[in-house]
Amino acid sequence: MEQTRRHSKKRDAILSVIRGTTSHPTAEWIYEKIRGVYPDISLGTVYRNLTLFKDDGLVRVVTVVNGTERYDANTLPHPHFACRQCGTVHDITVDFSMAAAQLSKEGFQVENCDITYHGLCPSCANNKN
Ligand SMILES: [Zn+2]
Ligand SMILES: [Zn+2]
Repeated sequence: MEQTRRHSKKRDAILSVIRGTTSHPTAEWIYEKIRGVYPDISLGTVYRNLTLFKDDGLVRVVTVVNGTERYDANTLPHPHFACRQCGTVHDITVDFSMAAAQLSKEGFQVENCDITYHGLCPSCANNKN
């Protein structure tokens, strides 16, 4: 049966797994990692903690690839590229400061920004031919 009590050790372990990767993992990927340390943990516990982290602003869902949410512990606004073939999510270094400056000139107050490009990553594009 599912335990409803919160385990702060497990909570910390889940958070450090997300913070220790830049691969923008899925909940299942995080679950597999945590299970190596806490074999009795359930996927539901991982999901519940992810929801709490989202509410606390510790992690963000940056995009959805092939129907699965992808998490990022880097909560500063930054753009991404999601590959539909291999499912990798990359941080990309494109400067959007001009766009923000333009928006503020037009009277918009930017508070957050989610930009994700979708397509094929370089290695998938090269293997396509
Ligand atoms: Zn790819
Ligand atoms: Zn990111």
